[in-house]
Amino acid sequence: MIDKIYLCAISNIESGTCLEDCKFCTQSVKYKADIVRYKRKTIEEIVEEAKKARANKAIGFCLVTAGKGLDDNRLEYVMSAAKAVKAENLGLRIIACNGTASYEQLCRLKEAGVDNYNHNLETSREFYPSICTTHEWDERYATCLNAKKAGLKLVCGGIFGLGESVEDRLSMLRSIASLEPANVPINFFHPNSALPLVENPLTKEEAFELIKLTKEMNPNAHKIMIAGGRELMFGEDQYDVFNYGANAIVIGDYLTTKGNMASKDIEELEKRNIPIAPSCN
Ligand code: SF4
Repeated sequence: MIDKIYLCAISNIESGTCLEDCKFCTQSVKYKADIVRYKRKTIEEIVEEAKKARANKAIGFCLVTAGKGLDDNRLEYVMSAAKAVKAENLGLRIIACNGTASYEQLCRLKEAGVDNYNHNLETSREFYPSICTTHEWDERYATCLNAKKAGLKLVCGGIFGLGESVEDRLSMLRSIASLEPANVPINFFHPNSALPLVENPLTKEEAFELIKLTKEMNPNAHKIMIAGGRELMFGEDQYDVFNYGANAIVIGDYLTTKGNMASKDIEELEKRNIPIAPSCN
């Protein structure tokens, strides 16, 4: 049984402006999903969210941008946000999640105070062309290597329920394991009628087994984190994910879907006597 649970919050600092065509993602402008779209949050808004996240017991705060990757302008923006949050000394680890990035860009993020870089492989190399045609899986893998080389802790996971085969799942998990990430976030596809993928075929039982498999194949990862899709995939059994090897969850809203109220998650964890980690250690 897990001895403590880590909470992490996400801030979608740009939303819904991505030109890529990932079939599972409502942030792509191609699919016209009914989501809130905005160019950028102000630095002040981001700092306020970070304070709220910490007050809700989060130990990680993730700055997520919509788009394929970093360019100079976006890099400066994320760096400003990271520096402003860091200056508050809230005790939060800062995670950046900004798509494909070069070694040099990632070094600059690190200098600005970013601790971890999140870049998911999403699915297997073999299945990737079926879900995205505008960039290649190999670019994603290369970014993960760049993040490690830049001295950032790598956060690398994927998404299940896209219609991938069992072999695809194993292939993705082998690829993730080969990168030896510090943390592995797992998402479960959240269908939206505007997307080309209309359903998530996974059963709850299969999803629990996938968490177990992720843990088994990444035994040294510090955190196996359940991110998007938790509420929809597991419903009232969502806190059972900790019985299958998960030890972290995202609290609050996801990128474009609503999550539980952070206070509800905290209440449910307390009801089950599951301690919430006070820091990242
Ligand atoms: S997953 Fe990332 S790259 Fe793909 S459409 Fe969404 S925001 Fe763009």
